[in-house]
Amino acid sequence: MDPLPADLAATIAANLARLRARIAEACARANRPAESVTLVAVSKTQPVEAVRAALAAGQTVFGENRVQEAAAKFPPLRAAHPGLRLHLIGALQTNKAREAVRLADAIESLDRPRLAAALAEAMRKEGRRPTLLVEVNTGDEPQKAGVPRAEAEAFLRACREDYGLAIAGLMCIPPAGEDPRPHFEYLAGLAAKHGLPILSMGMSADFEIAIACGATHVRIGTALFGPRPPLRAAR
Ligand SMILES: *Cc1c(COP(=O)(O)O)cnc(C)c1O
Repeated sequence: MDPLPADLAATIAANLARLRARIAEACARANRPAESVTLVAVSKTQPVEAVRAALAAGQTVFGENRVQEAAAKFPPLRAAHPGLRLHLIGALQTNKAREAVRLADAIESLDRPRLAAALAEAMRKEGRRPTLLVEVNTGDEPQKAGVPRAEAEAFLRACREDYGLAIAGLMCIPPAGEDPRPHFEYLAGLAAKHGLPILSMGMSADFEIAIACGATHVRIGTALFGPRPPLRAAR
């Protein structure tokens, strides 16, 4: 495991300060308090040293998209950083539900009945209840995770009524190369209709638009950590 150069820690601290300022400005333009938006630092494929650098700069909420990678990186950091919060934001296999429930403070990618059933069982067995968000495939893209638009409301009902799951909010990843605004507005409308307080939307390229549309959580990777190294290099 190569140590990060000291200047990378400084770069991450500077990027974090700049991002916090941009989030505060976007909140001010939307007449929202800056504390109404949580920055989720997406550390997928980044070495644990990059996570340590962000923690040292005061960042506490992190996002990972693979259970195994999260399991390797985060549990050892928890003792020294009791305020650390881990969000799982990637497509989740049902056979990883139990480990996901053990590891995560929030799971943002609930998108199908079998996963709802697996998470409900895992939460019962583990005695742990991570915050759950339903991921909506707002572009109805066939290759993408998330519940299709037309099924979203029925799925929200099923989570509550069939699986006894409390859903705290919604997450989406708009189609690449499209104006994200209509997707964010749709998600915000759906959350309002169902009384869901959390809206996880907006990434490095579009988080200011997401904040204008009501995002409570923005998931930012490259604008904080720089370009992602290849997966193999992440340890
Ligand atoms: C990788 C990822 C992000 C962060 O993307 P950036 O463009 O690097 O900010 C956000 N959300 C999800 C679900 C991701 O997989």
